[in-house]
Amino acid sequence: MNPLEHRIGVIGAGTMGNGIAHVFARSGFEVTHYEVAQAALDRGLATIRINLDREAAKGKIDPSEAAAAHARIKPTLALADLASCTLVIEAATEKFAVKQDIFRQLDTLLAPEAILASNTSSISITKLAAGTSRPDRVIGMHFFNPVPVMALVELIRGLQTSDATFDTARALALEAGKTPVAVNDAAGFVSNRVLLPMINEAIFAVMEGVATPEAVDEVFRLGMAHPMGPLTLADFIGLDVCLDILRVLEDGLGDPKYRPCPLLIRMVDAGWLGRKSGRGFYTYPPKP
Ligand code: NAD
Repeated sequence: MNPLEHRIGVIGAGTMGNGIAHVFARSGFEVTHYEVAQAALDRGLATIRINLDREAAKGKIDPSEAAAAHARIKPTLALADLASCTLVIEAATEKFAVKQDIFRQLDTLLAPEAILASNTSSISITKLAAGTSRPDRVIGMHFFNPVPVMALVELIRGLQTSDATFDTARALALEAGKTPVAVNDAAGFVSNRVLLPMINEAIFAVMEGVATPEAVDEVFRLGMAHPMGPLTLADFIGLDVCLDILRVLEDGLGDPKYRPCPLLIRMVDAGWLGRKSGRGFYTYPPKP
């Protein structure tokens, strides 16, 4: 595939958006990067610069290529600048109303053949697609954090996603250096549907005094060769995010087995959100 044939739009320059812009620009694509907030856009671009420079310092890419990749990203606060994009990947805040509004605007702005993708962790692709005039050209592209490092993209087919859309999104994900895995549209897709009940059960084990967080994590690191235990991972993801995803699973799948552990709810109520708040199952020194 010739990257010049595709122009990628990325919506949102937060944790995921800047990583997605990074990997496409590094693979030779021109990227238009849209945000609602100038400060978030500036932060996102600065993060991409730091991460590209780190890759160059480690010898993963040539320093001149790091600079060229950064230059391929055109930041903007004007949605109209995405008009010529052939694939737009939305990585804005995880709220249905926010995403629906973005999709509706993009639907009127982009060429009819352009593809709209969402990086949502939990929102139904079928429902997002239904709000547009092109439900066959809407797909989920679920990247993993940190995007420049993690190989996986869950490619989520909505009920109406066409084979042509799936094939193009798959080819573009491969071209960006990722390994796409096909998944159908259901709450939590595969990744969060399997991961979050495991994390939730680990929290139940702590609440019931079965073991300390350290012991639970050690069991998974040493016994199952997980690079980090479920409670360390929960702190990394954010305990509020874990709780939100469990609620989506509980609502979407209608099975009480997904009910969030009361200890998780209490910790979120206390503002113990994990790494980002300095305290979760572990404590973290304040960021300099
Ligand atoms: P984040 O809070 O770091 O970034 C979201 C960004 O979206 C913010 O910079 C915000 O200013 C911007 N934004 C809000 N409304 C917007 C709009 N209307 N137009 C353009 N930009 C807008 O969030 P994140 O962690 O990057 O998550 C983004 C998406 O990726 C969410 O759907 C989330 O569920 C999903 N996701 C997150 C992770 C993760 O580990 N953080 C992993 C996979 C998927």
